[in-house]
Amino acid sequence: MSDAALEVHDPFAGRPVVTAFIGVGANLGFARDAVLNALADLSGLLGSEFIASSSLYRSSPVDGDGPDYINAVAELGTRQSAHELLHALQAIETRYGRVRTTRNAPRTLDLDLLLYGDGILKTPDLVVPHARMAGRAFVLRPLIEIAGPIDIPGHGRADALLARIDGQDIERLA
Ligand code: AMP
Repeated sequence: MSDAALEVHDPFAGRPVVTAFIGVGANLGFARDAVLNALADLSGLLGSEFIASSSLYRSSPVDGDGPDYINAVAELGTRQSAHELLHALQAIETRYGRVRTTRNAPRTLDLDLLLYGDGILKTPDLVVPHARMAGRAFVLRPLIEIAGPIDIPGHGRADALLARIDGQDIERLA
């Protein structure tokens, strides 16, 4: 077989690399395993390079009930468009048995596209920066761990936003 036949076709080759941050959360079943496995899946995304992931965090549900969540944030350098990335994240969620019921319902795995470069996007199926991230400690704390006091376009600096949040229970896991 020639070398050419062994090459994997990369449909994203030649496109510029954009830094993207993904929020990962789960609170049903083996939540910790789901988050760790999802981080491994993200490291294998086509057209993307895995740059970093945060520690795992435990958080109480915000505006919802059910078991505590396990959360983390991952940083990718990606050649996928924001919508391609959203669809890739949804495909991973589906593999973990995610069933969409009501907003804030418990879930086996939730993947959110938090930031896509410094882009601001408002489409019917995709809002970036993620619409609710600026008020969620379980997003901002792991994000700041890997990205520092990053600017959330349209909202302000992540550390200032976190300082404004009151009463959300979150704990970094060893
Ligand atoms: P959720 O239940 O929080 O996972 O929300 C899922 C829905 O949010 C899907 O219908 C997505 O199309 C939509 N959505 C809008 N913006 C985003 C985003 N930045 N990341 C993930 N899902 C998003």
